[in-house]
Amino acid sequence: MLKPIRLSDLRQMPQQTQELEFKQFFQGFDSLTPVEGYLQVSHRGHFLEVSGRARTIVTLTCHRCLQQFNHRLNVEFEEIILIREPSPDPLPLELELKDEDLLESLPPGGELDVEDWIYQHLHLEMPRQFPCRPDCRGIRVETPEPLVDPRWAALASLAVRLQQSPRKDSP
Ligand SMILES: [Zn+2]
Repeated sequence: MLKPIRLSDLRQMPQQTQELEFKQFFQGFDSLTPVEGYLQVSHRGHFLEVSGRARTIVTLTCHRCLQQFNHRLNVEFEEIILIREPSPDPLPLELELKDEDLLESLPPGGELDVEDWIYQHLHLEMPRQFPCRPDCRGIRVETPEPLVDPRWAALASLAVRLQQSPRKDSP
């Protein structure tokens, strides 16, 4: 279990930074091996800087041939989380939306739920459409006979027979 990091605790730490390592399964995230990695969380005054790395093995389903296969997942984390009080009033409509409005934010007295944060980012990094191997040719489907007028079909099969060996095998 990874404990949430309180921002007030983080401010007391050397360089306002906490590093942690983990090797565990995450509930709701299916992996064959424990997710192994590290995370570094730094308090930079007005924002948190979260970075790290994780790796594990997951089972994916090939989107071409639908077979399951194991895939090594290597994830690099990097995110800026703004530290600010949630604004009680909605922004005036005439106010231009700035980039920072799109970022996640935490209140100064809040905490970063590390376990949930990693869980969310693992999900974001899961490949959606991935072939079992680069040259997977997918499911081989028998090409259905094209629909043709039966009269033309009779002629076509006759033509095929004429092109093949002149000797016929049928009795
Ligand atoms: Zn495949």
